Amino acid sequence: MALQVKENVPLAPLTTFEIGGSAKYFVDVKTEDEIREALAWAKEKGIKFVVLAGGSNVLVPDEGLNALVIHIAGGEHSFAECELIADAGCDLLELIKTAGKRGLGGWEKLSGIPGTIGGAVRGNAGAFGPEIRDFVVSVDALNAETGETKEFSNSECDFSYRHSFFKDHPEWIITKVQLRLTPISIDISIHLVEETIREREKRHIQNVRAAGSYFVNPVAPKEIQEMFEKEKGMKSREGRVPAGWLIEKAGMKGATVGGAIASLQHPNYIVNQGGATSHDVLNLAQTILSQIETQFGVELHEEAAIL
Ligand SMILES: Cc1cc2nc3c(=O)[nH]c(=O)nc-3n(C[C@H](O)[C@H](O)[C@H](O)COP(=O)(O)OP(=O)(O)OC[C@H]3O[C@@H](n4cnc5c(N)ncnc54)[C@H](O)[C@@H]3O)c2cc1C
Repeated sequence: MALQVKENVPLAPLTTFEIGGSAKYFVDVKTEDEIREALAWAKEKGIKFVVLAGGSNVLVPDEGLNALVIHIAGGEHSFAECELIADAGCDLLELIKTAGKRGLGGWEKLSGIPGTIGGAVRGNAGAFGPEIRDFVVSVDALNAETGETKEFSNSECDFSYRHSFFKDHPEWIITKVQLRLTPISIDISIHLVEETIREREKRHIQNVRAAGSYFVNPVAPKEIQEMFEKEKGMKSREGRVPAGWLIEKAGMKGATVGGAIASLQHPNYIVNQGGATSHDVLNLAQTILSQIETQFGVELHEEAAIL
């Protein structure tokens, strides 16, 4: 199929932040062949490419992107016994629901994490305990520089908390994911999906103009970990404390810059209250970052990708 490259496509509607300018060039792709074709097009034009998928963990600059935006959305999936093989652009929630209808699950707690299966693998998305790495058998990826394709085993994906090999190596574009699920009753799977989404709505972490948690939970010095454990009565995991807790402690909950706010319900969400620019978000993030560093000696790092 010949590629349909469009020009000056607004990106804000394709992101959950609903912020940012247009893509100079833009193409919708689903398959590895289409991604390969898009990369060749960008190379021939001598312009950069940027991968955008579900748009739920990105901040697009107000100026837009002088690049070819390769929009990986949609695709095919198939089942082989307990395994699910899905193109990177498949929607995560749709896959969870479809698998559930076949009596395969175990990953229902990931329901409601917006975005694609490819995006989830790249950031090792997780919620309420499980992470996508718990289900990944292998990942097919295409190297944008060499054209090579490779099947990465779970261990080669180098997963850790909100991290994978692909986060450090943006030249590798995820094209397909193979997952192993467990047999489950269809009714239980449906119930777990609904329950998880209700819980997310209750916690105000669903359907907001944000990119999810803006910062990853940072590794903190021992005394900060102890402060957290004493105050919350729970153990810190891997030496990390919740970024939202630090933001609240620093007095930054509800802080605003322009149309951007550190959410009152979930301070680690920077929310577009309407009309926020990417500069508002970046300025607010910078203020939070330096306050946390000054007050607690802890360095925060963005989870959201600043495109
Ligand atoms: C309301 C809300 C709630 C959220 N809750 C959670 C949560 O509970 N847990 C959690 O982990 N996350 C959460 N997130 C963050 C987000 O949903 C996840 O990070 C999601 O997995 C991103 O997938 P995406 O398809 O939207 O990726 P995008 O946002 O489109 O892209 C994110 C990054 O991944 C890269 N990328 C995307 N697809 C590919 C690919 N195929 N190959 C290589 N690179 C790729 C992009 O270039 C970009 O750098 C939440 C976000 C929102 C808005």
